[in-house]
Amino acid sequence: MERREDSIFPIEEALEMILIFDHEGKISYVNAAARQKLGYERDLCGRHISDVFPGSFRAVKDGFETECPVGSKLQNLVAYRRNLTCFPVEARLIQTDDDSGMYICMANDILEKEFLNREIERIKQEAGQAMKVKSEFVANVTHELRTPVNGVLGNVRELLGRKTDEETEKSLRLVERCCDDMNKIINNILDFSKLEAGKFTLEPRRFHFRNMLDYVKANHINKMTEKGLGFFMTVSPQIPEYVIGDELRIVQILNNLLSNAQKFTSWGKITLEAVRTAQVNDRMELFFIVSDTGIGIDKGDRDKLFQSFSQVDASISRKYGGTGLGLNICKQLVELMGGRIEVESEKNKGSTFSFSIWVGTCEGEEAVLQRPDDVKGAPVVMAAMSPPMEENGEDPENIRTYGTPENREQLKKNLSKLILSVEMENWEKAEMFMETVRQLTEEAPREVKRAALRLKMAIQKENYEKVTAEFEELNNFLQSEGDVLHDL
Ligand code: ADP
Repeated sequence: MERREDSIFPIEEALEMILIFDHEGKISYVNAAARQKLGYERDLCGRHISDVFPGSFRAVKDGFETECPVGSKLQNLVAYRRNLTCFPVEARLIQTDDDSGMYICMANDILEKEFLNREIERIKQEAGQAMKVKSEFVANVTHELRTPVNGVLGNVRELLGRKTDEETEKSLRLVERCCDDMNKIINNILDFSKLEAGKFTLEPRRFHFRNMLDYVKANHINKMTEKGLGFFMTVSPQIPEYVIGDELRIVQILNNLLSNAQKFTSWGKITLEAVRTAQVNDRMELFFIVSDTGIGIDKGDRDKLFQSFSQVDASISRKYGGTGLGLNICKQLVELMGGRIEVESEKNKGSTFSFSIWVGTCEGEEAVLQRPDDVKGAPVVMAAMSPPMEENGEDPENIRTYGTPENREQLKKNLSKLILSVEMENWEKAEMFMETVRQLTEEAPREVKRAALRLKMAIQKENYEKVTAEFEELNNFLQSEGDVLHDL
């Protein structure tokens, strides 16, 4: 049977050699790669398959014999060219399942494949080297830039210390701010190039967790207040006073998320929440949530957020400034700390960035019960101070211990009150019950805790659809753990 090459175009152009032969071993088709590698023109058609693979196929009366199994298994064969030189191939032999019962042999030149693999490896190494040189260059240039910027900054501060007229002081303050901004950009580029070059190392040490958060808060509170934004910070009492981690870098991530939140929010509130989500020996997983009621981010743009130099659109960078490096650096830092960063957002409603990291705990350090922070005395915070266990005069320990009948009973009660408050659009009450639910699930597995936190965020945003979806999710987790809430 003769075949026309153009009727089987994709295999004609394939990189691997393809030969088709019948039950007698007579070759009826060879593609361009096979013709070229075996040194034939069209005259290979009509020959016997044993001419190409004499070591593996034998011509016998009315056909051929072979030890090559038919199937997808790869086998090493030796292919012979027209000029009787040979080369090793990796081949597969399959048989068509139609009446013709034709055989198809697909073969790759092993030496060529090895050569290609070596080439790919070489190109990869060259690209890696070029990347390293580029990163080192960027690191050097930015480092060199820092010296003159700091020189200008030092002189400006010195001049500001002297007595000057109002106009001059205004100009000097502007130069000072420009230098500060420039330093921020330089630091970002330096971090980014170090991370890219794999030269970044974390410097973990023991630090006071609450003091760290207070410092972060102090960095942003003035700007937020100036914009009329509320700021709420909640810290789970399960986080001990001291933890071991790279404080500077945790501050950097939080600063970046909070300054974005502040930058992209013109009314409403910003919340920061920190909870412990897991403990394995002396390591603890911390989960942070930064939420705002700002401009939000389109679904299609969310995936781009953590890429380097990515800003949602050019008009945003013109209006708000920035290099688009911040979130990429955050992502890399979070991953270095063993965690993940995620975003949830709705256009014009706000964004919630959350990330987890692992920190060490100090020996003998007990979790200290701390009063939740309240900046403006929001209802959520007031609720956090009134523990749920006093309600019926029941044993507080049993109620607090996740999974006890008392705990489940309270959970059931508070969740049904919560959803009722949501239905009645009484968001303040819903936040109150939510805080109780959060406390009741403090010792729960991390998926339950995270679901509770997401529900809390949705309530704070007063987003009915999201609340019902998150409620459903939490309910499902709880139900799968013991059908507790089936009758809610
Ligand atoms: P930049 O330093 O330019 O702010 P980031 O990586 O921190 O870079 O942020 C990248 C982009 O992500 C921002 O330019 C903005 O478009 C978007 N973005 C980040 N955080 C928020 C937020 N809270 N609300 C809306 N958009 C945000």
